[in-house]
Amino acid sequence: MRPHLLLLGGTTEARLLAERLSARGDLDVTLSLAGRTQSPLAMPVPVRVGGFGGAEGLEAWLREHRVAALLDATHPYAARISANAALAARRAGVPLLCLARPAWVPERGDDWRPVADVAAACEALGTAPRRVFLALGRQEVAGFATAPQHRYLIRSVDPITPPPPMPHVTAITARGPFTLEEEALLLDAHRIEVIVCKNSGGTASHAKLLAARARGLPVLMLQRPAPPDVPRVTNVAAALDWLSHALKLRGV
Ligand code: NAP
Repeated sequence: MRPHLLLLGGTTEARLLAERLSARGDLDVTLSLAGRTQSPLAMPVPVRVGGFGGAEGLEAWLREHRVAALLDATHPYAARISANAALAARRAGVPLLCLARPAWVPERGDDWRPVADVAAACEALGTAPRRVFLALGRQEVAGFATAPQHRYLIRSVDPITPPPPMPHVTAITARGPFTLEEEALLLDAHRIEVIVCKNSGGTASHAKLLAARARGLPVLMLQRPAPPDVPRVTNVAAALDWLSHALKLRGV
């Protein structure tokens, strides 16, 4: 029987890992998605969708499906599932690795202002109306209801339902990666004065920051949540190395 790997996904890295592992063919891989995206991209390995029911549910899943290794390749801001994975893996005695993209770091010409959370971002926007690009997910967007004076441009993969509660919203749907040219056009067309985003890392959503730099626009950067204390790597190749080593140690 081939060893079973559970891959927690929802990111480009998880899809790349699934492709590489599928090509290797020496593991049974299950990719797990939260089910937030209406039409997720096709994946080269079996996919399960939806929550496990907290850390206990994930622990039970690991035991029931005889998982030999757990790879948490979720988004750096998906804090709950990563904390659950740490707890469940420890209790089930399953080796766990977290693959997290390195955060972006500001460069010369960037005007990034760190904010702890959405409430702090609303405060930092100030009282005077501004034209704001919210490059955030639907969970965060609702929090801007406390700052209704601004005009918001909101981009999401799927339409946001229920619609954002602010009175002045332009909502667009698009799936990255986005080019610098596309982002520059978007910022200019909507006369954006400030961007609010997460420090997601990676390349797919980085171009907006280059466009902001070129225009001298401020960026309110939501800070990353503290990660759980588990082994971590920052790229797919290192994750594959860890996996080979972990499975060898377990004699599988
Ligand atoms: P979260 O707050 O950490 O997780 C909320 C709950 O969703 C978890 O407790 C878990 O439910 C379920 N869940 C999350 N990821 C899952 C997965 N890969 N497979 C099965 N269940 C999962 O997560 P989130 O921030 O809502 O993100 C949800 C998904 O979107 C993640 O897979 C993440 O990689 C992806 N994503 C997130 C962001 C972001 O900015 N947060 C951006 C891009 C992609 P149970 O407790 O019931 O198990």
